[in-house]
Amino acid sequence: MPRFSPTMVPATPVSIAQAAALVADGDVCAFPTETVYGLGADATQEAAVLRIYELKGRPRRNPLIVHVPDVAWAMRVCAAFPPLASRLAERHWPGPLSLVLPRGAHIPDIVSAGLPSVAVRVPAHPVALSLLRAARRPLAAPSANRSESVSPTTAEHVLRSLPGVPLILDGGPCPLGIESTVLDLTQPRPRLLRPGALPLRDLLSDVPDLELPSCHFDEVPGPLPSPGLLTRHYAPKATLHLVSNPEARFVAGLPSPTGLLTHAPLPQLDGLCDVVERLPATPEAYAVDLYAALHRLDDQGMRSIVVLAPPRNEDWRAIFDRLERAASKAA
Ligand code: AMP
Ligand code: MG
Repeated sequence: MPRFSPTMVPATPVSIAQAAALVADGDVCAFPTETVYGLGADATQEAAVLRIYELKGRPRRNPLIVHVPDVAWAMRVCAAFPPLASRLAERHWPGPLSLVLPRGAHIPDIVSAGLPSVAVRVPAHPVALSLLRAARRPLAAPSANRSESVSPTTAEHVLRSLPGVPLILDGGPCPLGIESTVLDLTQPRPRLLRPGALPLRDLLSDVPDLELPSCHFDEVPGPLPSPGLLTRHYAPKATLHLVSNPEARFVAGLPSPTGLLTHAPLPQLDGLCDVVERLPATPEAYAVDLYAALHRLDDQGMRSIVVLAPPRNEDWRAIFDRLERAASKAA
């Protein structure tokens, strides 16, 4: 049983001060960022960070991102801060870009899953920034949900996924809706580790020699890769089918109730799905509502969710990554 009943409170100077006191004391709290809600703990206290892994059921080999209020703090968290990191920080912080750099001495192994590096970012949400300033310490903060499940973009999502969190600061829906872009700067050539809310286009203009991991939409259009090859993540309770051209026969054969998530009209499916979530046809606007739409479909008890696959191009890469992982089967 949790020590406290879960408390979801509007983010105000008073509740933010309470949250800052909690994390200083080695506890955790959930707070809004511009990407998704985070579950934060003092990144310098090993036992506090351990609580994050326990509450989320997160595998210990999955490192966390450290959130800081400004570049000066980022420099304290990292053992080195090369000129490219400074340039990117100047352009994109506060914002949805996480930089992986050599880990500073004050950051314990557990934050980075034992790696010699650490991921760091300055979030752009006013509540996150106020909390970081009030706490006067870096906060390790992954998404505030059970491991593998759909990330939270509202305080209610956090409450339902993690009832054991002692304090949830409610700052309304997250403005961007998917996780940060993660960039590795520890190698001679910068490398994209995770596509995310910072559009790749923006990053490529700053880092033209950016190494992009090979990815499925580099291939000639064809069937999607075997879902079993992908790490399951961001997954709703319903079975998710990512389909380029959903045919009526396929959809009619799925266990019902069936939900449809689409960014374009699909007249061939008229009347075949129990609930239809229509998302915008641009990647940034689609991202804002993606997780919330998956939560809504789960809340309505869907057993199957059919997702119209987005275009296979760089602009949709972050969304494609999330949908592919959500569609992959449990290991
Ligand atoms: P989440 O906290 O769920 O947003 O996930 C953070 C992600 O950032 C991890 O799953 C990794 O992909 C990446 N990450 C964090 N720290 C590191 C690191 N030190 N080295 C490489 N990747 C990292
Ligand atoms: Mg997460």
